[in-house]
Amino acid sequence: MNRFEFSTVSRIIFGEGVFRETASLTRKMGRRILLVSGLQGSIVDRLTKDLVEMGCETFIFDVVNEPTVNSIMLGLDAARRNACDLVLSLGGGSAIDTGKVISIMATNPGEVLDYLEVIGKGKEIQIPGLPFIAIPTTAGTGAEVTRNAVIGSPEFGVKVSLRSALMLPKVAIVDPELTCSLPPFVTAYTGLDALTQLIEPFVSLTANPMTDGLCREGIPRAAQSLGRVYMNGQDQAARSSMALASLFGGLALANAKLGAVHGFAGPIGGMFPVPHGAVCARLLPVVMDVNLRALKERQPADSANHRYQEIARMVTGSEKSEAIDGVRWIEDLCTTLQIPSLSQYGVTSHSIPELIEMAAKSSSMKGNPIQLTAGELREILERAI
Ligand SMILES: [Zn+2]
Repeated sequence: MNRFEFSTVSRIIFGEGVFRETASLTRKMGRRILLVSGLQGSIVDRLTKDLVEMGCETFIFDVVNEPTVNSIMLGLDAARRNACDLVLSLGGGSAIDTGKVISIMATNPGEVLDYLEVIGKGKEIQIPGLPFIAIPTTAGTGAEVTRNAVIGSPEFGVKVSLRSALMLPKVAIVDPELTCSLPPFVTAYTGLDALTQLIEPFVSLTANPMTDGLCREGIPRAAQSLGRVYMNGQDQAARSSMALASLFGGLALANAKLGAVHGFAGPIGGMFPVPHGAVCARLLPVVMDVNLRALKERQPADSANHRYQEIARMVTGSEKSEAIDGVRWIEDLCTTLQIPSLSQYGVTSHSIPELIEMAAKSSSMKGNPIQLTAGELREILERAI
C-alpha cells in the first residue's frame, strides 16, 4: 500500500443547533474578534450579541465576493487596526477563504502576493496564524476543513491558491440548520460542488483508504439528498446529509487530489464572473463521461474503471448499474436542478485554448485518473459551454 498522510482541523463540531455553542467556544480562544461574513441580519446580529455578552469585542468585515488580493488587504487592515486576536468566518466558501487568509497574513511578514502560487513569489508560510474558527452556511465547499484558499486577481485574470498546513482552521463548527435558508439555485450548485469534491478524490491518482471511506459515506448521502433539499429547503434530514457530505468532501480533497473539473474551475472562475460551484456543477457529468471513455480506450484495466462503476451504484442505489449509468444519473440530476451552461456566464469558445493551457498547470489536473489529450480537454469545454 502506498504511503499516505491525513491531516485536518483540530476540532470539528457537527450537529443541528451547534451554532449556539459558538460564543462560549470563541471566548476561550480570543477576546477581540474579527467577524468575517457575507451575511447580514439576524444570524450575524445574534452571534455579535452573544459574543458581547461573553465579554468579547467584535469587528465585522463584510465579504461581498470571492476573495481578491485587494479585499484581503482591506480585511488585514481591519484586523491590525483593531488589534484582533481571533478571526471567525461565518458564511460560504468566500467568507471562509477570506478569513483563512487574513488570519495567516496577520502573523506572517510581507504581502499576500509574496506567498501566492503562479502570480506571486510562492514563498512558504512559516508562522501559525491567529486562531481561526470557520462556520459554513452553505453545504458545498468544505472550506472549513481545507488548508488552502482560492484568491482571485482581476489584474491577472486568474484565481490562485494560497496553501499551507498552517492554514487549517482551529475549529470547524458545522450546523446544518444554517443552510436551511439558502435559495434553491445556490443549494443546487453548492451541492453539486460537494458531490464533485467526493467523486474527484475517489477516482484521483492520490486516493487513499481514509479518503475512500469518507467518499463512500458522502457520495450516497449527497445523491439521496440533493434533489430533496432543492425541492424543499426546510427538509432538515436532507440538509444534515448535505452538510455532512460537504464536510467529507472537504476532508477528502484536502488529503487526496481532485481532477479535471477543478482543474478547469480555477481558470474559468478567474476569467469569468461565475460562482465556483456553478462551474463544477456544469463540468461534472461531462468530465466523468470523457474520463470514462478515455479510460476504456487507453487504460481498460485501470482501477478507476471499477471506481466509476462503484460511483454509479452509489448514486443510483442499484447494484446492476454500470459506470455509464452514473454519468447519465448525474446528467439527469443537473437537468432537474436547472444547472445553466457556461455560455450563460459569458464563456465562449474563443477562450478554450487559453483555458486549456491554464488548466494544464493546475494541481487539480494532476489528480485526474487519466491524462486527457488536448482534443478531450477541448471537447469537455465545448460541451459545457
Ligand atoms: Zn469545488
